[in-house]
Amino acid sequence: MIKARDELAAVIPYPLGPPPEAIQKELGFKRIIRMGDNENPYGASPLALEAAKRALENRSFYPDGTYSLLYQALGRYHGLPEGYFVAGNGSDEVIRLLTRAFISRENEAVMADCTFPRYKTNVLIEGGVPVEVPLKNGMHDLEGMLAKITSKTKMVFVCNPNNPTGTIVDKKDLIEFFKKIPENVLIVIDEAYVEYVTHGEMNDAKVILSQYQNAVILRTFSKIHGLAGLRVGYGMMDPKIGNELKKVRDVFNVNRIGAAAAAVSVNDSAFIDLSVKKNKIERAFVTERLEQMGYTVLPSQANFVFVLLKGPAKQAEAALAQKGIFVKGIVAPGYPSAMRVAFGTREENELLLEAIREYSVEGV
Ligand code: PMP
Repeated sequence: MIKARDELAAVIPYPLGPPPEAIQKELGFKRIIRMGDNENPYGASPLALEAAKRALENRSFYPDGTYSLLYQALGRYHGLPEGYFVAGNGSDEVIRLLTRAFISRENEAVMADCTFPRYKTNVLIEGGVPVEVPLKNGMHDLEGMLAKITSKTKMVFVCNPNNPTGTIVDKKDLIEFFKKIPENVLIVIDEAYVEYVTHGEMNDAKVILSQYQNAVILRTFSKIHGLAGLRVGYGMMDPKIGNELKKVRDVFNVNRIGAAAAAVSVNDSAFIDLSVKKNKIERAFVTERLEQMGYTVLPSQANFVFVLLKGPAKQAEAALAQKGIFVKGIVAPGYPSAMRVAFGTREENELLLEAIREYSVEGV
């Protein structure tokens, strides 16, 4: 066996989701309800799908490697010049480009101890040191994170709303946090779920970027835009930072179809607004029902909810999976047993609640 880089010894491959579509029938599933990956159950913008179909016609040609049309569309939406954007094969890739470009061996990166796992993984891959700060009352402990910044710190991650807890950092608190972070530390704000926030004000990317040259804001087309299968995400940042990312990205890292769909979807406010509205109703419905069943849930501003469990998380995940309902069982510091459940349509949510009710009765 050829030995891989030492850094990989600490890295765990990303856990698998539902069984591959090709074998779902063979396994006896009549229907699969996907609630483990925080996707949009209402599909995608019809205008974006039209754009994707048109792009498919030119499939024999590489995409425009400058992604100029996409960046112009993003620019219109955010009020920023094209040079502020770097697109990736999902925002996953943008996270990887950031750590590739900025984390060297033994650099530290501060993050919450219960957050999106790819920050830690990518820091480890580069030989960096993830410094994990416990959540406080289910939320990012910004003071605690500031206290961990040392001369070795290169990057700070704040996931807002946080995956998996769904909790948000207040706009004012985040500004105070920015003020206290040294200029040579990158502050990465991951806003994968920000469109779903309906309570409290969120920070405006343009305002943040005009004041803080060390800020990076991440967004994705996988969640509210319902284009997870096309793999498009992006970062907004000062062009000087963006140019470093462009040095380490693969050529044509976003495919033609994804780029075309994203460029249209970002400005289809009708589709986005409808998804926000439906999600808000389902979030209230599922939260209320779970609380009525006696579960503690954290206050979510995302398209999923974090449910505290009494029995083992993986057992709950497996029990629901047997019924074709795929959720994410979570074992994290401070949360020995929890489950993250993305909201589906009303019908799917009712099936979920019924399955959880049966599971609770079985007392596992
Ligand atoms: N950030 C967060 C917080 C996420 O939850 C996810 C997806 N689960 C991503 C980034 C990556 O999303 P994608 O690569 O699909 O854009």
